Amino acid sequence: MSNTPAEPGAARPLSGPQRAMRKLGLLRDIDLALHLPLRYEDETRIEAIAALREGDTAQVEGVVRSSEVEGRSRRQLVVKLNDGSGELVLRFLNFYPAQQKTLARGQRLRVRGEVRGGFLGREMVHPAFKAVEPGAPLPAALTPVYPASAQLPQAYLRKAIGSALVRAPLEEILPPAVLPPGLPALKEAVRLLHQPPPSTPPAVLEDRSHPAWQRLKFEELLAQQLAQAQAVAQRAKLRAPALSGCVGGDDRPLHGRLLSALPFGLTGAQQRVCAEIDADLARPVPMHRLLQGDVGSGKTVVAALSAARAIDAGWQCALMAPTEILAEQHFHKLVQWLQPLGVTVAWLSGSRKGKKRAAMIEKIASGEAALVVGTHAVIQDDVVFARLGLAIVDEQHRFGVAQRLQLRHKLTEQAALEAHLLTMSATPIPRTLAMTYYADLDVSTIDELPPGRTPVVTKVFADQKRAQVIERIRDEVARGRQVYWVCPLVEESEHLDLQNATATHAELGAALPGCSVGLLHGRMAAAEKAAVMAQFHGAQIAVLVATTVIEVGVDVPNASLMVIEHAERFGLAQLHQLRGRVGRGAVASVCVLLYTPPLSDTGKARLKAMADTTDGFEIARRDLDIRGPGEFMGARQSGDELLRFADLNGDSGLLEHARRVAPRLLAERPEAARAHVARWLGGRSEFLKA
Ligand code: ADP
Ligand code: MG
Repeated sequence: MSNTPAEPGAARPLSGPQRAMRKLGLLRDIDLALHLPLRYEDETRIEAIAALREGDTAQVEGVVRSSEVEGRSRRQLVVKLNDGSGELVLRFLNFYPAQQKTLARGQRLRVRGEVRGGFLGREMVHPAFKAVEPGAPLPAALTPVYPASAQLPQAYLRKAIGSALVRAPLEEILPPAVLPPGLPALKEAVRLLHQPPPSTPPAVLEDRSHPAWQRLKFEELLAQQLAQAQAVAQRAKLRAPALSGCVGGDDRPLHGRLLSALPFGLTGAQQRVCAEIDADLARPVPMHRLLQGDVGSGKTVVAALSAARAIDAGWQCALMAPTEILAEQHFHKLVQWLQPLGVTVAWLSGSRKGKKRAAMIEKIASGEAALVVGTHAVIQDDVVFARLGLAIVDEQHRFGVAQRLQLRHKLTEQAALEAHLLTMSATPIPRTLAMTYYADLDVSTIDELPPGRTPVVTKVFADQKRAQVIERIRDEVARGRQVYWVCPLVEESEHLDLQNATATHAELGAALPGCSVGLLHGRMAAAEKAAVMAQFHGAQIAVLVATTVIEVGVDVPNASLMVIEHAERFGLAQLHQLRGRVGRGAVASVCVLLYTPPLSDTGKARLKAMADTTDGFEIARRDLDIRGPGEFMGARQSGDELLRFADLNGDSGLLEHARRVAPRLLAERPEAARAHVARWLGGRSEFLKA
């Protein structure tokens, strides 16, 4: 049984405002107490009309001298208010009869609004107003303005919060030693934010720098850090197979044979991250590690070597990618590397069905398939691994929440032992996010590209240069090189006026006679896509017109030119991913960003960032500047809502402090830590683990 407030009787339906409060999650007194104002109105003072200046927002009190509807076609109500010091015009463009009554001649009114200079002197347009008795008391505190809605009127919310504040349990849970210095007690802070004394400067309330705000933000950040630390502690208690050594005492482990069979040596960065991963795999605790490295930095071979460790130790490995094209690329590469060494690699995707699928599932269940590669088909319920020891997930943030929960389930399927997890991403996590939502994640970074790469040169052209760009393609193809032409959408949306891939395919086919132009887009069947990709790999196709299906991971080193049409419509991360498809071999490569003028400011900033740098980490930083952190890792949007008050960018000082004290609090006052997390996150702390 929960101890939430008693449900209203089943026969009595909730009122509109009650339903609206419920929708906002305002169920308990504490929820209402923590529903803080967006801003405040100062109704504590009355100004003299004579002293008003244009642009002021002010409250005045006076008596209505006249109240008249003026104008024929556009009727307005013009009210003249006098307070003895002067006269003010109140102008209403819409009004109801009831309002007209309150605004009638002789009424005493308290009025609040912005002062403007009007034809008849100073005036307020649509001010807030109410009738008052002479000498009616003024409020003692600033008036809070809450996030509200049409269904949840401000006045209703103010009353509900006012009474919740009296009851809400806001006693101190945290020992003073963990608090940043100079902050008020929680109860005091919450009260102050709802009912600030008139002397409080509104600016420090509204920009949330007031100590009371700092206290709340700290509370929230600490709860988040504690929840992460609890997750780390819980993981440390789990058991996983130690993936080291070689079963059966084989003196020719797969790992070593793979290393010597590779056509290249590992970069220093690759060696370092491999060692970090190996150390994790050798421990009987599940690994939870992110491998980040720029596009083309060589993450796949690191994945293959990790898989070899698992296989050597007698366990299976699963590798999962978000799209079929990307999964296929991995599959081909891994088959090419591992099959000659005697490893059975299975392939599973959504489009593989029937007997073939059944045969694969059989091999996975028997353990014959040591490595399984595919899309999320790999983690369907009917896929049962004999001994899953390691799961590798490429671009995990592109999988949906349901799929990630399914993956969790697959990792824990083996009753006693949990599988290790390695995720890979070309999008680096910003530091503040790494310290918060990803605190339960170890990170390895490949910060070096394989040798012999020539950085891609990026050029930005208006679409008028299209013909010259096509000429350039002709030259490139004549030299035996291959070209990508990327379009934003397939099947025209006339409103957006986008060149669609089909039309461009026809256009390039006509402009480049004797040159084979292929087409790849999201609406094609998987088998069709795979066939086109195979032809591009085999260089039977010279120019590939494609939508963003090629965005991630496609690897054709002979491609040396990429044209991105309507580049202004792509996000920065996406442009970087796309550009990473060229410059993968030793030939100098070019990326042309075609845009259709005029460019917006953010459009300009994005294209400039692309032209300025090829460093994915720098691009991620600029992206963060342009977009803000909220959107950064779309995948954790459910988590973003957990931070209601703190702002990861602006409050990094408080975040550092919370991070420092969290382990001490957990160790020394575990019951206080638990109570604090429960107060702030309640049932939501589970979200942090998804
Ligand atoms: P990403 O990190 O973007 O997934 P890939 O794993 O696809 O990058 O690697 C990009 C290309 O670089 C592949 O063709 C791969 O075989 C090659 N490669 C990886 N490591 C090295 C290395 N140490 N030396 C030379 N080439 C490498
Ligand atoms: Mg990759």
